[in-house]
Amino acid sequence: MRISDDRYSRDRLRFDIALQFIRHEARTHTIRAWTGLSDDRIRKLYRSYLCDCRGAPLARHRGKSPQQVAYFMRTARARQEAALLASLCRLLGALPLAPAPELERSLPCLARAELLCQAYEAYRGLIPEGLISFEHAVFLITTLVRGDELILGGCRDCSAMLIVDRWSLRAPRCPLCAADHAQGAEAPLPSAACSAPAAMAGAGTAAVAA
Ligand SMILES: [Zn+2]
Repeated sequence: MRISDDRYSRDRLRFDIALQFIRHEARTHTIRAWTGLSDDRIRKLYRSYLCDCRGAPLARHRGKSPQQVAYFMRTARARQEAALLASLCRLLGALPLAPAPELERSLPCLARAELLCQAYEAYRGLIPEGLISFEHAVFLITTLVRGDELILGGCRDCSAMLIVDRWSLRAPRCPLCAADHAQGAEAPLPSAACSAPAAMAGAGTAAVAA
């Protein structure tokens, strides 16, 4: 009796997660990988979902899932949103604290799928017009777990979380610190510093004269 209860709860969770993935416009093979449902059951679920919500428009994406990590680094906005989403994933436990390539194969599972959905919904709650699709969110946590191209690092000055190129030699700055740094670089130098070369030249002349 207990076993069948557990099995019922697990099957129920599987369908709930699949429905959330459908709402987030995930591809069929992504839903299959994360829930273990067959393509046929996913198709039936998709059809019943459309009937239940009276034909609300839902994009069905086909073909390969995203595979280019450059997507997350191409603009300041993309970098910022990817860092926000990754932070939420880490906060909710969908993303381990450090890269763990050994987890890559076991990453798609029901428990993590539930946490990933929560993190993604929090991200879209904060940025309703966010750039990152759910498929890209799946790709982002897979990339960060692998840790061979991008990692979650900290700003050089304030330690704010940033998506960082795994092979960059120096930690980057977050947009706020970068703006502060640029302002500091543009500010006029103090008068003592400006006159330093002249003072040195004068000292040299004096030494020669002495
Ligand atoms: Zn910073």
